[in-house]
Amino acid sequence: MKNADELRGYRILDGQSVREFIAAQGALAAKLGGRPADWNVREVGDGNLNLVFLIDGAAGTVCVKQALPYVRAAGPSWPMSPERAFFENAYYRSVAAYVGNCIPEIYHYDPQLYCIVMERLSPHIILRQGLIAGMRYPRLAEDLGEFVARACFFTSDFAQPCERKMDGVALFARNQALTRISVDLIFCDPYHSSERNRHTSPYLDERVAQLRADAPLKLAVARMGRKFLTQHEALLHGDLHSGSIMVTPEQTRVIDPEFASYGPIGFDLGAVLGNLLLNWYAQSGHATPADDRVVQRAWILAQSRRFWETFRATFLTLWSTQASGDAYPAAMFADPAEADPLDAARSAYLDSVFADMLGFAACKMIRRIVGFAHVADFDSIPDVSRRAACEEGALRLAHRLLTQPSQFRSLDDVIAALT
Ligand code: ADP
Ligand code: MG
Repeated sequence: MKNADELRGYRILDGQSVREFIAAQGALAAKLGGRPADWNVREVGDGNLNLVFLIDGAAGTVCVKQALPYVRAAGPSWPMSPERAFFENAYYRSVAAYVGNCIPEIYHYDPQLYCIVMERLSPHIILRQGLIAGMRYPRLAEDLGEFVARACFFTSDFAQPCERKMDGVALFARNQALTRISVDLIFCDPYHSSERNRHTSPYLDERVAQLRADAPLKLAVARMGRKFLTQHEALLHGDLHSGSIMVTPEQTRVIDPEFASYGPIGFDLGAVLGNLLLNWYAQSGHATPADDRVVQRAWILAQSRRFWETFRATFLTLWSTQASGDAYPAAMFADPAEADPLDAARSAYLDSVFADMLGFAACKMIRRIVGFAHVADFDSIPDVSRRAACEEGALRLAHRLLTQPSQFRSLDDVIAALT
């Protein structure tokens, strides 16, 4: 937690004070146009942590996100430094040059209010809501595959000199409050009885008890947790689930990188894949006589495959054309005769990233079913026994991914294991 000095000048914004804050910034006020008193202000935050205001003026619109000094979902009894807004802003700035319009444009950051003013995305909706409603997005998988490849490649040792990469590691190493949440809520709490956990009871009681007594499973999760803590390959978004992605049929935008830290590339990939798979398992709970969701399920699997393939192809192309970092230095492999062994080494590296992706996807699936924060994909299935059956299927797959990793060499292997 920041001490009182560091919070000097901080105040929690409301509909009126956010209006005054924007009115005092000439360029932002001009973007909105008209008189501040006529602006329409709405607080729309639906997440666990922060305030989000949408402000409409006569000429334009902006989004203002402010970090609270506590966890919104829990209230002031769970204090947390608002410094996470600093890291969210720093992530956006670190990847902006590489990811094009896959992120919102950032207009302003206020270090005292821990508040970011950014492009308001409209008519984009949260991907998770679209997937639950049975919507399909033709560009989604390719946009996300390219996004992760570009954001990770250009912040990694493949692209950056070690000094610059280490500066990045040092900066984001301060994002400790949110890294602590990931460490606890993904890699620890779901596997012992913690009061922050919940699951669909009584249906999953027995399954959850087994999971907490399953040493091979817990060792596999601990191995992924150690990787997360120690393998600082690239700057990660850190929370790249379908609630952090906003979409239209034409556009894909990534938001909410407040969990940004350096870590294994498979962690961001696994967040995308794990949440697509959770949605696949939830689809049967949303099926109706008029819409059995069979086509939607097939579409989700096709997206999972295309997401990985796009990531892999993009990353390999970047590596062979833009490797200016200190890992596998280009100067060492100038002889054309070395092209084949180098290609084989690159391919083997991507295989290891694939394995990491599956391990992290599985950890993320489990924690969303037996841990603190659940997903609307399952929670919105009104029939509780039906919901539990969907969750049970997802737990079974995650268990196999973690305990039998050698059986999963490709996404086809994963798809063949879905039941
Ligand atoms: P939290 O970190 O608290 O989870 P998010 O960044 O996920 O907050 O934002 C919460 C909600 O606010 C999102 O689900 C979305 O509906 C809305 N939102 C966030 N950023 C924007 C934006 N740039 N444009 C429009 N709506 C946004
Ligand atoms: Mg968030």
